[in-house]
Amino acid sequence: MIDLRSDTVTRPTAGMLERMMKASVGDMIFGEDPEVNELERMAADMFGMEGSLFCPSGTMTNQIAIKAHTRPGDEVICSRMAHVYLFEGGGVAFNSGASVALIDTENGTFTAEEVKQHINNPDDPHKAFTRLVEVENTVNRGAGACWDFDQMIRIRELCNQRHLGFHLDGARLFNAMTVDGRKPEEYGALFDSISICLSKGLGAPVGSVLVGNREIIRQGARIRKAFGGAMRQAGYIAAAGIYALKNNVVRLAEDHRNAEALAGALEQCRLTEKVNYGGTNIVIFTLKPGTTAPEFLEKIKAKGILALKTGERSIRMVTHLDVSGAQVAEACNIRASL
Ligand SMILES: *Cc1c(COP(=O)(O)O)cnc(C)c1O
Repeated sequence: MIDLRSDTVTRPTAGMLERMMKASVGDMIFGEDPEVNELERMAADMFGMEGSLFCPSGTMTNQIAIKAHTRPGDEVICSRMAHVYLFEGGGVAFNSGASVALIDTENGTFTAEEVKQHINNPDDPHKAFTRLVEVENTVNRGAGACWDFDQMIRIRELCNQRHLGFHLDGARLFNAMTVDGRKPEEYGALFDSISICLSKGLGAPVGSVLVGNREIIRQGARIRKAFGGAMRQAGYIAAAGIYALKNNVVRLAEDHRNAEALAGALEQCRLTEKVNYGGTNIVIFTLKPGTTAPEFLEKIKAKGILALKTGERSIRMVTHLDVSGAQVAEACNIRASL
């Protein structure tokens, strides 16, 4: 099967498994796991930030950040497409008692002007206290769209003026940096906290890191404990994360080329109506009336391809390190027979 459902389906490679087997481990909660310590130091240094926290999932790193930034009753500004709003089990309300102010956007990116329109007057007791702005790069539901860096700089300036925190859901930040050519430290200088996933395009089996300023990380360490995310001999999985950061970043460009080829083939397919491709590793397309997503998925499954339904007539395909260029070419070729 050519599995294009998600970049989370990757399995550790032989090299990664070997690195995991060789991990030296200790009790992470006692601060004694050398691999976790190394990964946390490596991530913080890479982004030029003061600290970092290794966690089991990207949902947890986002939720820890939101809780560290806010108090119950506060409001978080994000896009209507944000993963933290759509796909984290209502966690913003559940974990932080916070509400969201949602910005309508085409691809999940927005402007400082739009943020400004969503900031409540802090002196009006009717209104929730706006505390945090959250952006996602790349945007999952925006077909892997990348932010314009200058737009994020303008939002940072606004956050400074209005005393708001600025969090980046960087589950696929390395995909974004592959395209925008920015360095991790440029991102580190812009945000108070950044969540990065090791288990997506980077190919680790588990794990995410929250990098941030001293205060967020200090509070975050307690929140991670309260959320049940402080692990013990986690070095085995941290080692996979170290391996991923060292070996699997450069190859992301290959995933992008593969996704671009898929997007091109889907444009040519007689069943597709509109193809959205944000320039990274995600393609989202809608089908012409007459074919539903489950019908389309059955057709391609019979030809050895898996994809994900994102709506009644919309489907997502994601490239990753477990699909080769040859497999993508094979997937592109089936369009003629659909
Ligand atoms: C996958 C993802 C996350 C985190 O997901 P987990 O499955 O909890 O690791 C966060 N944000 C975005 C945009 C994602 O795609």
